[in-house]
Amino acid sequence: MHRDLLDSLRCPAAHEESWLVVMVHDAVDATLLRADLACPVCGAEYEVRDGLAQFVAAAEPASTQASARIMHDLDLSRLAALLGMTESTQSALLIGAHDATGVQQASMQIGERLPLGAGTIAAAALDEAHATPTYLAEAVRVVRQGGRIVAPATAPLPDGVRELARDETEWVAEVTARASGLIELRRRAPEIID
Ligand SMILES: [Zn+2]
Repeated sequence: MHRDLLDSLRCPAAHEESWLVVMVHDAVDATLLRADLACPVCGAEYEVRDGLAQFVAAAEPASTQASARIMHDLDLSRLAALLGMTESTQSALLIGAHDATGVQQASMQIGERLPLGAGTIAAAALDEAHATPTYLAEAVRVVRQGGRIVAPATAPLPDGVRELARDETEWVAEVTARASGLIELRRRAPEIID
């Protein structure tokens, strides 16, 4: 997991947004290989092992878990073009399987709620298996206003987006507003303990 992602991380538990306190045990350059993350609000603990962040609550059934990646500096693939990724400093969230490579990527195992703050990500793509109403609403929450979401054509268009394009395989939409009026609460700056 890339250290830059810490700015976007929030506790995925059902409470107001909160930064996570991070204790780094092992890192290579800006990549965290082993770290512990803790929520100062609810006390939940998450961990990074072998670079993979686990954000699945203990009680969460396997059926609601998924793999996600945060890609920085996406390659010039069709997906990057659809996502409107033109600036190298942007990061995109990919939920499920996508054919894309990035200079840096952060892998995470997620539950139903994404461990990311409102409007912290430039764009998001969901594959067929994960374009559920729950993940689509979560994508609308974490993608910044004006950022794009790409999903299969069979997926319902969520609230809070405007459709930009559609073909027989997928649609591209732009986030117009926060889906449920969520307000980003910046409780405190992220605390990093090396
Ligand atoms: Zn929490």
